[in-house]
Amino acid sequence: MSDVKAEIKRLSEQLTAYQRSYYVEGRSQVSDTEYDRLFDRLLALEASHPDLRLSDSPTQRVGSDLDTSLAEREHTIPVLSLDKSYTAGELLDWIEKTEKKGQSEVGIVIEEKIDGISIVLYYEGGLLDRALTRGNGFVGNDVTENVKTIASIPLSIPTEASVAVRGEIYLPKDSFELLNATQEIPYANPRNLAAGTIRRNKSREVARIPLDIFVYEGFWEGEEQSHLAILSQLARWGFRLNKNFAYFHTDRRRAEEELAQAGLEGFGLSFLDLASYIEAETGKRSSLGYEIDGLVAKVNDLEARARLGYSGHHPRWAMAYKFESPQAQTVVLDIDVQVGRSGRITPVARLKPVALGGSTISNVTLHNQDYISMLELGVGDTVEISRRGDVIPAVERVLEKGEGSSIWHLPPRCPVCHTVVVKEGAHSFCPNTHCPAQVRGRLEFFAGKGGMDIEGFGPETIASLMELGALADIDDIYRIDYEAVLGGQPGFGERKIALIVEGVASSKGRPFSTVLTALGIPDLGKKGVQILIEAGLDSMEKILAVVDAHDTERLTAIKQIGQRSAETYITALSDPVMRRRIAALASLGLSMEAEAGEVTGDGRFTGQVWCVTGSFEHFNPRSKAMEEVERHGGRTTSTVTGNTTHLLAGSGGGSKRKKAEELGVTIIDEETFISLLNKPDKNLSNEQGELF
Ligand code: AMP
Ligand code: ZN
Repeated sequence: MSDVKAEIKRLSEQLTAYQRSYYVEGRSQVSDTEYDRLFDRLLALEASHPDLRLSDSPTQRVGSDLDTSLAEREHTIPVLSLDKSYTAGELLDWIEKTEKKGQSEVGIVIEEKIDGISIVLYYEGGLLDRALTRGNGFVGNDVTENVKTIASIPLSIPTEASVAVRGEIYLPKDSFELLNATQEIPYANPRNLAAGTIRRNKSREVARIPLDIFVYEGFWEGEEQSHLAILSQLARWGFRLNKNFAYFHTDRRRAEEELAQAGLEGFGLSFLDLASYIEAETGKRSSLGYEIDGLVAKVNDLEARARLGYSGHHPRWAMAYKFESPQAQTVVLDIDVQVGRSGRITPVARLKPVALGGSTISNVTLHNQDYISMLELGVGDTVEISRRGDVIPAVERVLEKGEGSSIWHLPPRCPVCHTVVVKEGAHSFCPNTHCPAQVRGRLEFFAGKGGMDIEGFGPETIASLMELGALADIDDIYRIDYEAVLGGQPGFGERKIALIVEGVASSKGRPFSTVLTALGIPDLGKKGVQILIEAGLDSMEKILAVVDAHDTERLTAIKQIGQRSAETYITALSDPVMRRRIAALASLGLSMEAEAGEVTGDGRFTGQVWCVTGSFEHFNPRSKAMEEVERHGGRTTSTVTGNTTHLLAGSGGGSKRKKAEELGVTIIDEETFISLLNKPDKNLSNEQGELF
C-alpha cells in the first residue's frame, strides 16, 4: 500500500471514530484544533489524490448536530462551515490572494468568530417563522420556541420578504460563571452550556438562562450590494450585531466613509493595518465578555462573493483564523482530595509539572466523581491537558492508561474530620459544618483578598489562632484580645500583633457589598452581590426578608439570577449558623446596608418596576431600555400590573398604555427617559419610585 493510501485510510478511520463519539455519544475525544487539523490534512490528501478517497470518507459529511427528539426542518439557504487557517500569516496570505482574485477593490471585513451555537432564523411575512440549528447543513433541528426566549432576537421585522439570518447564540462569560457554580455537573465552557440549553424540551427552562446572539449574515432578495449594507439593514430591523469588527480597504478614508454611510460602528482601516489589527484582536480575546475561538475574514462585495463561489463545504469568499488552544501531555502522579469552605469535596490531580501556554502546571481540578468517571481516569495515566479560551487548565482526555491503573474513586469519608460524605447532585460534601477544613476555609476566605482583605490575617495567623482555641467562627475575629492571646507565641512579635489589631480594626469599615461577599455564600461572589444590590436588595434586612418569605420569584425576576442560584442563596441564608454569624457581625458594627453608588450604576431606579412598550429610536431592540432600567437598580416586567410603577412608552404599543392609564402608572416617553438616564445623580429623582 502506498504511503498516501495508508495515511488516508488511517485518517478516515480515526476521524470517523471521533465524529461518532462527538455526535452520537456527546463527548469529545480530541481537541477541536487537533480534529480540524486532521480533517484538513485528509481533505488536502483527498484533493490531490481523488482516486484514493474512500467512499465512506468522513469528509463526505459535515458532521451533524441533529437530535432526533427535536423536529427536523430543511434549510433554504446554504449553511456551510468555514475554511480555516491556523496562523495570522495564513490568513494574511488568503486575504492578499483573494483581493487579487476579486479583480476590483472589494474590501474585506474581519469579524470575531463567536464560540457559540450556530443558528439560522427564518422570517416569513415579517414574522419569525422558524429557528433551525445548523444540523448537517441541509436539515437542522427546529428550536424556534427556545430561541424565542432570547430577548435580543426580534420576533417580527418590518418587511414582507423571506429573510434568513445567520447568527451565533452564546452565553456571556459572567453569566456562565454565575450559573456554572451551581450546576450539578459543571460545564467545561459557556458553549457547552448554551448548546445544552438551546435543545431543552421546555422553553421555560431556556428562558432562565440569559442567552444572547450576534447575527452576522443575512439572505433576502434586495438591493444590497455589500456585506456592510446587509449588516446595516439587519441592525435597522433590530438585530444585534457585534460591534467589534473592522472593514479594510486600500484607502482607509474610503473604508471609514462606507462604514459611516452604512451607519455601522466598526473600525475603518487600510490593508496596511491588517497585521496589527489581527494581533490586537487576538490579544483582546480574554478581556471580552463572550468567548471567541478565532476571527473570520469575509469579502465585502456581494458580486465578488458570487464570482468566488463555493467549494464543497466552504464559501471561497470567507476564511476563518482559528486560535490555538494550548495543550500538553503529562502524567497524573496522584489524586488528592480537598475540602472547601462549603464542605464540597474536590478531587485534584497532581501532575508531573508541564509547561502549558506560558506557565508550569502541576495541579488541575477534576471537579467531581462524574468528571473522573467520564474520563475513566486513574493514577499513573498519561493525559492531555489544555487551556481552552485562556481559562483554568483542564484534563481533556486519557491518552494512555498507566500500568495496572483503574478508575479512581472518592474516599467514603472526609479526609479531614472522617465524617461520612454525602452526595448532592454531582458533588460530594462533608456534612460536618465544624469540620476544621471548612472552618479554616471560611475564615481564610473571609479575611482574604476576595473578602475583607484583612492585613496580617493570612493562613498562618488563622491556623495559630485556631490551634489556640481562640478562633472558631468569623465573628471571633472582631472579639479576640490579640495581645492576650498571641503575646509570647512564636512568630508573633509585638509589631506583628499590632499590625493584626490595626488590620482587623480598619476592616470593620468595609462597605456592605464587601461584607456580603466575604460571607462566602455559594454562587454569591462580587458580581452576584453587585447584581443583588443593583436590583434593589441593598441591605441585609431586605435580603433576609426575601429569604424568610422564601420569595424565589423576587430573585429570579432579576435577569441574571436563575432558579438554582435563587434557591442556593435562600438555603445558605436560612441556615441558623449563618444567621447567628450575620447577627453577631451586625452587632459588632459591620456594615449591613449599601451606600448610594457603592456598586456601579447608581440605583436611580431602585424600588421601581418598569414595563416597556412600543418601539424606540435609541433603544433598539427595546431590551436595551430594559437593561438600562436594571443597571440602575430598577426591575422590569413584561406586563403592566398593580406593581408596575412606570411604563416606558415608545411609538405604537396601545394596550399597555391603556392599562397603565387605568392603573395610574407613571407613563414616560423616550425623551424623558433619556433625560432621566443622563441626570447627574439619582438624588434628582426621589426613592419612592416617583419622578420629580
Ligand atoms: P466551523 O464550525 O469551525 O466550521 O466554523 C464555522 C462556524 O463559525 C459557523 O458555522 C458559525 O457558526 C461560526 N461563526 C461564529 N462567528 C462567525 C462569524 N462572525 N461569521 C461567520 N461564522 C461565524
Ligand atoms: Zn470534614
